[in-house]
Amino acid sequence: MKIVHYPHPSLRQKAEPVTQLSKDIQILAEKMLELMYEHNGVGLAAPQVAQPLRMIAINFVGDPEQKDQELIAINPVIIEASKTIIDDREGCLSFPNLFSRVRRPKRVKVQFYNLKGELMEGVFEDLAARIWQHEIDHLDGVLFIDKMGTVGRDASKRALKEFEEAYYEAQKNGEIPKDLTPRF
Ligand SMILES: [Zn+2]
Repeated sequence: MKIVHYPHPSLRQKAEPVTQLSKDIQILAEKMLELMYEHNGVGLAAPQVAQPLRMIAINFVGDPEQKDQELIAINPVIIEASKTIIDDREGCLSFPNLFSRVRRPKRVKVQFYNLKGELMEGVFEDLAARIWQHEIDHLDGVLFIDKMGTVGRDASKRALKEFEEAYYEAQKNGEIPKDLTPRF
């Protein structure tokens, strides 16, 4: 399992709710955390590992030693968002080395299930709120390039073209399997 890069079609798919907390889901959760840490991320959504499921891994400080900052969220939803908007820089593990300013609500209230099937709720601010919004967007096939302002989008044009070229080259060389059926 590896992190897929733009423009892999999995990133544009709307993910399906997780209906059963099976052993496969536990294994997927572990692999997602592993990959997130390996790439120094603070969040990773299942569509980024080509699994169209509503499931995300987060570590708010990106530090594998700080387990209290780590969580797996199943079927997360934002139930409230603040009117206050923050404009800040962010990146995405599916767009290596591309960063841009994105405007997002400063505070969100989130509901999700943990791996034990317990319903959890929390209010998050600033970077934590940004991580939730970015990851939940992934579950709906929405990417941060969709939310950049015109300046950010113009600045990213060349990088996006390079991602597209690399992707089609890998596909031509047979490095990207065409079958995207999830193995569950
Ligand atoms: Zn991302």
